[in-house]
Amino acid sequence: MTAILDEIVAYVQFDDRDRERLLGLRTNLEPHFPAIADRFYSALWANPGTAAMLSSPAQVERLRLTLIDWMASGLTGVFDDEFYEKRSRIGRRHVQIGLAQHYMFTAMSVVRTAYLDQIIAMYPPEVALLVARSLDKLFDVELALMLRSYQLDSEAKLVERERQIQADRIAAIQTLSAGLAHEVRNPLNAARLQLELLERRVKRTSDDPKLREPTALANQEMARLGALLDHFVHFARSPDLRRSDTDVTALARNVIDLERPVANVASCELVFDDTTGVHANVDAGKLHQILQQLIRNAIEAEARRVTIATRADDDYLYLEVTDDGAGMADAVRARVYDPFFTTKDTSVGLGMSIAHSYVAMHGGSIDIQSSPNGTTIAIALPR
Ligand code: ADP
Ligand code: MG
Repeated sequence: MTAILDEIVAYVQFDDRDRERLLGLRTNLEPHFPAIADRFYSALWANPGTAAMLSSPAQVERLRLTLIDWMASGLTGVFDDEFYEKRSRIGRRHVQIGLAQHYMFTAMSVVRTAYLDQIIAMYPPEVALLVARSLDKLFDVELALMLRSYQLDSEAKLVERERQIQADRIAAIQTLSAGLAHEVRNPLNAARLQLELLERRVKRTSDDPKLREPTALANQEMARLGALLDHFVHFARSPDLRRSDTDVTALARNVIDLERPVANVASCELVFDDTTGVHANVDAGKLHQILQQLIRNAIEAEARRVTIATRADDDYLYLEVTDDGAGMADAVRARVYDPFFTTKDTSVGLGMSIAHSYVAMHGGSIDIQSSPNGTTIAIALPR
């Protein structure tokens, strides 16, 4: 997580001497922090664009304390996890309140000038220059981190928009499927009934295979159509989410046991990476479906071994299905959630769109990593 911070710090060539100078400066500046904070906030108030972001005196007082802590922690020159966490929080806050990026630079300039005024007053000129140089590095690290918060936010928004487009597309085709299945079902049933009557009459009047064969074939085709219709209906039916406290470990083990005969036929081994009993407030039926689809796809990708892992933290349930199968080409990867997209001869191409739709209903996310050595599908669902 802090690899990026390490990179920034190394890039500006911040070293132990910089750290020493900043620590010395910190001791000298500490008594002036409140005055510098006042200067910072009078500049904020003086500018209509930033003054509009300030609401109450209580808020300003909170911000003042945050700023003083920011000054004190920055001047230690210690760039560790805690520093990164603090800066990330402040950055996220800037993004949240919609602070325009140019204000980060103007506001930092005010603090920088306030620091420099003190440095000029406190140090002999040659030393002042070196301290200012170290300070510049610190400020650039701070600014780089602040910019990154905006970048992370726009990336997250892009991913979210992509997900929403995909979910909308699936929903549209679900509606179409529902209508189509409904309209086709009745005539198909009627035709099947008539065919049955015809078969019986043919049987009664002759046992000529030339007459029987076509009806048998027609029957077969109608059965196929019926099965396809079942897929449609299943895909179209998107009942509301029914969350309940679910023993995910038990559920996963159950799905794996049910799929094992299919796997055995394909000489594929299913491995449950079993952590301690994982519970989550999810729709058990849909979770079952998701896992089943992922496992079947892995087996159908000619995997020798499929590992299913379930984990959880405070906020999320994580499901991971890893296979050592054929993997997906980029072109497949790009269309994998499209309803009816399949690369298989006798498949319908609904598995991944159903999984996507169920995950979206939970407010979760799916991530696919694939190479010619295999595929990992990782799902995160809010608990
Ligand atoms: P279907 O399994 O009916 O083809 P899916 O929606 O389940 O439909 O999957 C769509 C396509 O995505 C598959 O045809 C296959 O090409 C690809 N795919 C899905 N899962 C995997 C996997 N684990 N490994 C390789 N390819 C996969
Ligand atoms: Mg499938």
